[in-house]
Amino acid sequence: MRIDDLSMPLGSSAADVKRAAARKARLSEKDVRTFLILRKSIDARKKGAIRECYGVLISDAVERLPEVTFPHVGERDHRPVVIGFGPAGIFAAYVLALAGMRPLVLERGLPIEERAPKVDALWQRGVLDPNANAEYGEGGAGAFSDGKLNSGIKDKELSRFVLETFVKFGAPKEILYLNKPHVGTDKLRETIRAIRGEIERLGGEVRFRAEVTDLVREGGTIRLTADGEYLTDRVVLAIGHSARDTYERLLERGFAMESKPFAVGVRLESLQEDINEAMYGVRRDPRLPAADYKVAEHTALGGVYSFCMCPGGYVVCASSEEGGVVTNGMSYHARDGRNANAALLVGVDENDYGGGVLAGVEYQRRIERKAFGLAGGGYRAPCQRVGDFLKGRIGTLDGVVEPSYLPGVAPADLSRLLPERITGALRLALPALDRRVKGLAREDNLLTAPETRSSSPVRVLRDESYRSPSDPAFYPCGEGCGYAGGIMSAAVDGIRVARAILDECLR
Ligand SMILES: Cc1cc2nc3c(=O)[nH]c(=O)nc-3n(C[C@H](O)[C@H](O)[C@H](O)COP(=O)(O)OP(=O)(O)OC[C@H]3O[C@@H](n4cnc5c(N)ncnc54)[C@H](O)[C@@H]3O)c2cc1C
Repeated sequence: MRIDDLSMPLGSSAADVKRAAARKARLSEKDVRTFLILRKSIDARKKGAIRECYGVLISDAVERLPEVTFPHVGERDHRPVVIGFGPAGIFAAYVLALAGMRPLVLERGLPIEERAPKVDALWQRGVLDPNANAEYGEGGAGAFSDGKLNSGIKDKELSRFVLETFVKFGAPKEILYLNKPHVGTDKLRETIRAIRGEIERLGGEVRFRAEVTDLVREGGTIRLTADGEYLTDRVVLAIGHSARDTYERLLERGFAMESKPFAVGVRLESLQEDINEAMYGVRRDPRLPAADYKVAEHTALGGVYSFCMCPGGYVVCASSEEGGVVTNGMSYHARDGRNANAALLVGVDENDYGGGVLAGVEYQRRIERKAFGLAGGGYRAPCQRVGDFLKGRIGTLDGVVEPSYLPGVAPADLSRLLPERITGALRLALPALDRRVKGLAREDNLLTAPETRSSSPVRVLRDESYRSPSDPAFYPCGEGCGYAGGIMSAAVDGIRVARAILDECLR
């Protein structure tokens, strides 16, 4: 029996939930042979009486959820090559390895244990390594992230496979049922390393410091240039949305690509306790997770929406190019930082950045470089209090919200950084958003900018068999090619592409 709406008091244990579910299913507890929590969420509609809400499977028979399996293909003349080891590349390689195809992964960045000190050097000392940063290296952009695993994708089976794989390799079990699963960068890094170990154990190979700089067809095979030359007949392109040089090379090599709308904005940082109060009616309760929010507002200058909200998290520098500043957000598993942050974004399209496949990339780059100069270099980011932003003055950063962004912020007038339509839309939206989540536009809240890399400005086209119409040996995949918008959707896309390769091999 599936029970979808089991309402329980805050702080209920699994045993409490099982007891209540058995009662509802009219089963004696000793007869229960299957008990699975499928979903857990917080019901905060009544602020003074917050409840936990569960979905469970309970039965007096032994039951199992359907399992995702992959056919065995075995070794072929050439190993399939996966370019990029972010969530899309990791899951494509994992599935190809499970099928016995011994994939070769080429990743421009470093293994996580060598990457972390490089990211630290950027965040602590403002020293950027263009091949080892918050975008590049083992785990891709997902490794130094909040590790939120929720997504709007409909494929529940593959989403569950991704969650189960994360749990199998060390992520906390609760992600299997929390309605907003979250791993945290600390646990995610360990999990990714363990998945790499399994890919290698299954006969795959992961090569770091292996930036693919060229891809050329030679008769029936593809020659890839990276840390050496590699011949293959199947390539998964899982390059992420920051590989601007790789986009250029793909364009030169004649791949069908187009520009695509994306979004630009700021990181809004507030006190976590303000958000807790707005969402739960209490500033702190150990039984409640740090509260999150999701808001959107239509304005005459375009829609404004929150994205990648990080409760108890930190604003981080996610630059990958010298002389450009990019903001993003991350958190640790405990989500116990003093501040909450979220991107506030406005959609942009050809009307903003003009025509040309890489016009969006240039638009991003211009803003990122301007930010670098405006904050005085060293990867510090321009920052402004909400009150000052709304009044149109630079102001100071003295207030109750301390900026968490590393390597540091500089007070700036964000209307000198972002296009007028974007700052205009943010100004119109902030008071309205404050009516949804009280305190969101508090004077002392901070806006750190620019948030330019929330999604890909380019799509590398593929057909219904997941292959490039320019060359069927290539499988565009993940966020960078325009088919995902987060860790979960990128991972699922990696699985779909790998499956397409398996199907093709078995045909
Ligand atoms: C700080 C931060 C926080 C985030 N927080 C979240 C979150 O909480 N939840 C969420 O869902 N999403 C989050 N995201 C977004 C998420 O990380 C991405 O959507 C996801 O990682 C995309 O996966 P991908 O595999 O398609 O690409 P990526 O993760 O970008 O991986 C691409 C990989 O390809 C490699 N590469 C690129 N070019 C080449 C080349 N030429 N040769 C070899 N290798 C190459 C790169 O080094 C990189 O490792 C966050 C992103 C950042 C930066």
